[in-house]
Amino acid sequence: MKKTLLITGGAGFIGSHVVRLFVNKYADYTIVNGDALTYAGNLENLADVKGRSNYIFEKADITDENAVNALFEKYRFDGVIHLAAESHVDRSILDPLAFIKTNVLGTAVLLNAARQYWKDDMENKRFYHVSTDEVYGSLGEEGFFTEETAYDPRSPYSASKASSDHFVKAYYHTYHLPVVLSNCSNNYGSHHFPEKLIPLAIHNIKNNKPVPVYGKGENVRDWLFVEDHARAIDTIFHNGRLGETYNIGGFNEWKNIDLIRLLCKVMDRKLGREEGSSEKLITFVKDRAGHDLRYAIDATKLNKELGWAPSLQFEEGLEKTVNWYLDNEEWLQHVTSGAYQQYYKEQYQQR
Ligand code: NAD
Repeated sequence: MKKTLLITGGAGFIGSHVVRLFVNKYADYTIVNGDALTYAGNLENLADVKGRSNYIFEKADITDENAVNALFEKYRFDGVIHLAAESHVDRSILDPLAFIKTNVLGTAVLLNAARQYWKDDMENKRFYHVSTDEVYGSLGEEGFFTEETAYDPRSPYSASKASSDHFVKAYYHTYHLPVVLSNCSNNYGSHHFPEKLIPLAIHNIKNNKPVPVYGKGENVRDWLFVEDHARAIDTIFHNGRLGETYNIGGFNEWKNIDLIRLLCKVMDRKLGREEGSSEKLITFVKDRAGHDLRYAIDATKLNKELGWAPSLQFEEGLEKTVNWYLDNEEWLQHVTSGAYQQYYKEQYQQR
């Protein structure tokens, strides 16, 4: 069936994997990637789909109502998969208003455009909001986040995502906008901006630079291979029930320090270094303010209802990820531009 879809944030880490999957899998869809190309958006992420007949890039800021309406007017979208966001917790601590603007206002602008353009025909339309497990707050040593867990965001990033989730649900209840949501755990894989833990560590180990780990590295995160997230988004977009939230996770919890030690082992092997040499680069830095102790996702609903499950073991996914970064030195050089270097210096100076 022919469809025209808007994927916001398609030039970012997860968005580029979703665009690639949809362009390759659905030849009869037209995929419009709407992205403002902030520091985190990089069209090199999609070099392999550029020029494909079912793929269009539109530079657009989701907080700009006129620009968003113009896109709806031009393409008459059948669906929206919304990933555009400010996504880095540390940056949200430095500049919370930027997060409120893009994540809250930007989402509301998109919802409003969809409401206006779809108001006479909501049949077969779908607005999919991609969100994070961080909206649920922090867990102790036990338990998991389920779809019923009460929201308890603790960083400006998670508060902005929680707020956008609420707006999506409000548009469902108030205007009957056909929405579906998902909340996912930490992603890892190729094309990840090197301010995030895994690509940052790979980059620094390779260059014999200190590998910063917050506090004592005791924080626990659930990790999911980004291509498995993209598959989950495909499944939920097409088969999820309207108005529902689906949690997505890897059933794969790691303490930060254990994850970094595993990565050091893989890197020693890949770089032909003596075992244990990369671990010496681990440097503990002052903990992030309000650092949530543990996130863990129960993705049973998605598994039972829609049959999705992660496809890769963590060790296998990590190996693939390391290989990609080592084979794509040029990509890394391009994204670690002057502006990023400055931010990195401010954020990770040893204390
Ligand atoms: P990212 O930072 O890599 O990419 C974000 C993209 O959004 C970039 O291409 C950027 O240019 C674009 N963007 C930012 N502001 C914009 C604006 N005002 N208008 C249009 N485009 C704009 O982020 P990511 O890690 O790929 O995350 C994508 C989505 O998934 C986000 O909504 C995030 O909250 C969610 N999420 C991420 C993770 C994760 O582990 N990375 C986990 C769960 C959920």
